Amino acid sequence: MAWRVFRFFLFQAVGAALGYALWAGQAPSLGVIVGLVLASALWVLVDLWRGMRLLRWLREGRVDQLPDLAGLWGEAGARTRSLLKVRDQQLVQSEARLTEFLAAIQTSPNGVVLLDSQGRIEWCNRTAADHFGFDPQRDLQQHIGNLVRDPAFAAYQAAQDYSHAVVMPGPRSSASRPVLLSVDLHPYGEGRKLLLSRDVTALEQAEAMRRDFVANVSHEIRTPLTVLGGFVETLQNLRLDAAEQQRYLALMAQQAQRMQLLVSDLLTLSRLEGSPPPGVDTWHPACELLGQCERDARALSALVAPQGQRLDFPGTDAPGELAGAGSELHSALSNLISNAVRYTPAGGQIEVSWQILPQGGAEFAVKDTGPGIAPEHLPRLTERFYRVDRSRARETGGTGLGLAIVKHVTQRHGAQLRIESTPGQGSRFAIVFPASRVRALRSGA
Ligand code: ADP
Repeated sequence: MAWRVFRFFLFQAVGAALGYALWAGQAPSLGVIVGLVLASALWVLVDLWRGMRLLRWLREGRVDQLPDLAGLWGEAGARTRSLLKVRDQQLVQSEARLTEFLAAIQTSPNGVVLLDSQGRIEWCNRTAADHFGFDPQRDLQQHIGNLVRDPAFAAYQAAQDYSHAVVMPGPRSSASRPVLLSVDLHPYGEGRKLLLSRDVTALEQAEAMRRDFVANVSHEIRTPLTVLGGFVETLQNLRLDAAEQQRYLALMAQQAQRMQLLVSDLLTLSRLEGSPPPGVDTWHPACELLGQCERDARALSALVAPQGQRLDFPGTDAPGELAGAGSELHSALSNLISNAVRYTPAGGQIEVSWQILPQGGAEFAVKDTGPGIAPEHLPRLTERFYRVDRSRARETGGTGLGLAIVKHVTQRHGAQLRIESTPGQGSRFAIVFPASRVRALRSGA
């Protein structure tokens, strides 16, 4: 600064000296004044020119192209440039942070929509666009109420009570593929709102299944209990002869056994759901599994179709071994066989087969000449308590859980359950086991 003041005075002095020298003959003092004025004017002009260049540079905003300026303006320019650079760096950093932040929200499994104080969409992530059917670009600045028209959401917005979420169907929801969204609003800033959406279809379905399950179990237990209660009352209040008493007691035992079966199937299902899949280190010879099933099936057939059914089994020469949990495998195979026996009328035929497949793995199949199942029932057969014909299923003494158990066991063993059926002709239930769980030769054979 002192150097600059010194240069200014030096410049004035040179101007004064020049004026004095030029006018030395006529009017030296006037020469000094003119020299001083001209020197000052020149100084101011040069400064003005520099200032103008700096101003132009600032207007153009090209930070890197600072004009070569000396003096005060030069320093002001250099300092402005470094300040601008710092600001630019900060800007770049905050933009990078914002981009990262938005990228993180993009990956969120939940929908996120930022609404301004008027309820217009400022930004939304892809999940939200998918949930509500928005176009993330075109629908910006659109009012949320114009795009999400569900009455439940409109009422939620109007009530302005954001302490809970609202559940509404998604725009692409249909009867065959329902989509349920849980949506909640969170006010923030000055009148702004954060809208969060979550796909709760699976959760709601699980909850509905749980409710149905409890209702079904209660119903299934209540029926034999009511019958049992009725018999107990009859035995208490009526004087019955010994034969009649025996008949009632037999019927009571039947109902008690039905409840036992149900409870045992429920326990089996919960064990299957709660335990890790069986390992591949325990091998069971197919002929032993099938032999056990055959004995059970013949006993059941004699009971439910005393007039006779034809049962064909592969016999003791069924080849190979199966890896997994023996009790589970037996339960799955015998459930399929017992269904065939129970649903096939007397005189019908049940054919059980077992074959090692050429491409690896093995197929266990039960084919019957029973009533068959209409195609619309097939996808739901393995649901718990699903029955094609309720009264008939009850007659045959089923719990409605057999195929659900079969499905769980097949899944746990990496196998596939295949069902083919033609109404009036019969059904074929097959389990295809993967190569990893089948070995063609028995160890030591
Ligand atoms: P249930 O104990 O009632 O037999 P399942 O889960 O084993 O229960 O079977 C579900 C339903 O599938 C049965 O109620 C029956 O309507 C039908 N079903 C199963 N197997 C057969 C079959 N072999 N032939 C005809 N219908 C069958």
